[in-house]
Formats: sequence, structure tokens, C-alpha cells
Amino acid sequence: MISLPVVLLSFAVTFAACDHDKDVNPTGAQAPAQTAPADTTLPKLSLPPDNGPPPAIDSVRAMQYVKEIVAFGPRPIGSANHKKVENYITSHLNGDAVEEDEFTADTPEGKFPVRNIVAKFPGTRDGIIVMASHYDTNYPLRGTSYVGANDGGSSSALLLEIANQLRGKKRQGYSVWLVWDDAEEAIKPDTEVAFLDDSLYGIRHLAEKWQADGTLKKIKAFLLADMIGDADLNIDRDLNSTPWLEEVVYQAASRLGYQSHFFARTLPGLSDDHIPFVKRGVPSADLIDFNYGYNDVFWHTTQDTVDKLSPKSLEIVGSTMLEMVGILDRMDPLPPK
Ligand SMILES: [Zn+2]
Repeated sequence: MISLPVVLLSFAVTFAACDHDKDVNPTGAQAPAQTAPADTTLPKLSLPPDNGPPPAIDSVRAMQYVKEIVAFGPRPIGSANHKKVENYITSHLNGDAVEEDEFTADTPEGKFPVRNIVAKFPGTRDGIIVMASHYDTNYPLRGTSYVGANDGGSSSALLLEIANQLRGKKRQGYSVWLVWDDAEEAIKPDTEVAFLDDSLYGIRHLAEKWQADGTLKKIKAFLLADMIGDADLNIDRDLNSTPWLEEVVYQAASRLGYQSHFFARTLPGLSDDHIPFVKRGVPSADLIDFNYGYNDVFWHTTQDTVDKLSPKSLEIVGSTMLEMVGILDRMDPLPPK
């Protein structure tokens, strides 16, 4: 329904993340042949070892969560299925410290209840590492069988499994907060309303709230997972993400032997849930594979189904994120933003 918005301008490629484009001078570009390619080299970092046990992810259980989320059917905001998925997520966080951020979003299609869910796993070090995933499905596709198995399903399931791994263990490091953010998807097709004016409702609200209450300045890193279940896993490098944190992504993946699944491709200008945090100066990394099927053909279509996914991909991304936490815990000081 929504075509992949790719604008090729010589060196400048405009993509949009789980959602759409609207970034990187789509109209003002000129004389591409004279445009110098940006320096996209990642900074060299000498990172401390992660002395903890290697991260564990139960990929079979994580995939089971994907299947259960998808089994509710399409889950656009305002729907009964959406409510069921909210309850599904919170039911898996029984006994955890959960903060809910509920509000009413004013959208081009009217007002909708929005509910961000935050599970907090405290650490001994002062500061917070946030991991986030949206859980709603695309609203313009609400009348179809679209279930977003990869887009929203895979990453939300992975966070549930990461919660399993964090639960009941004393964290010798930063607190880890898991965020299932809501109303991430655009309400109107991006051909009608600019994506960043009509999307990310939940995570924008949370970033504003955390800025107002002082939480934001404690956040050391914002790690976003989006479309990470693709069996043909190729996590893209995103030039909107913080370069030093992207280097931590790559080194974490390399320590686990997974580097061949990372950063073969660089995408400037991903507009995704990390943007409200990037704008506020929080180091942020978007772990996304934005090539889902040949030429992204499964993205935002009814083809986004569980059969395209692999438990191994969930394991690769989940263990890389946990390895990143182990590295960040030992970095002192963190690089400047
Ligand atoms: Zn999407």
C-alpha cells in the first residue's frame, strides 16, 4: 500500500525507518555529482572487555512470543486487538517494575488512547540504558490482514525475552529500561501527511515527559530495535544514529561473531523511534534491517508474516544488544555526544 520511499541522489540516499522517509533534503538536493560523500567512518574506540558471562537469548521462546503477538491479528491503535496486545505485554511483566505512560494522541484521524509500557530493571550504577520497540501496526493497513510480524512484532517479542534474561538478576551496571512504545506508525499515508508530523506519537510523548521530569539526562544510551526478525538479517548502519554508539554495536556484534550481519549497508536519515531522543542529545542507535525481502518488498504489506522470520535473527540482535549493555556498563567515561 505504501511504496518504499527511496530517493536516490547520487551519494545521498533517503530512507525512512520502520516507516517512511521525510528526511535528508528531499527537495533541496542539487547537483548531486558535485556532492562530496559524507565521512561515514565510525570512530575508533578502545572498548573495555565485557567480563560477564556471554549473553543468553532463548530464541525459540522469543519466536513463540512473535507468533502469539501476531495471532491477535492486526493491532492498529484504537482497536480491540491492540488492547489485547497491551495486556499480553504487561501480563509477561508481572512482578517487574512497570511504568505506564498513557495519554490521548490527537491525530489526523481523531483522538486515540496511547499507552507506552516501560519495564525497569535496576542496576548499581547511576544511569539508564533504554531499549525500545514499537508494538502497534500500521494504521492505514488496518482493513487488511497486515500483522507486522517483523515490523513491530519481532522487536516487541525480543524485548519480552530480554526481560526474561534481566529478571531476578542483580545488575552490576546501569539500570536497563525496556520500552514498548505505542502509536509509532503513521496514521495517514505519508503521501498525505509528512511522516514526522504524523507518527512516533508514543515515543515523542515519553521523550518529552522524561525531559520534563529529569529522567532524560540520566539516559546513557537509547537502543532501538525495529524489523530485526528477518531470516536474511542485515542490520543497516544509520547515519542518524550516534556514531560512537554504532561503533559499540559493531564491536559487540563482532565479539559474538555476528559482524557479518551488521553494517554492510549505510542508510542516511532513518526516521524512526530514536529521533525524539537523538534530537535531545541522547546517544542513540537504531538496530534495523530495512531491506525486508528483495527491495524491501515485504515491508508494510500483508507479506510481513512469521514465515519470513528466523529465531536465529532474534538471537543475533538480542545478544548483541545485551553485549552492548555489558560494554557500556564498563565504559568510563562515555564518549561525548
Ligand atoms: Zn512500520
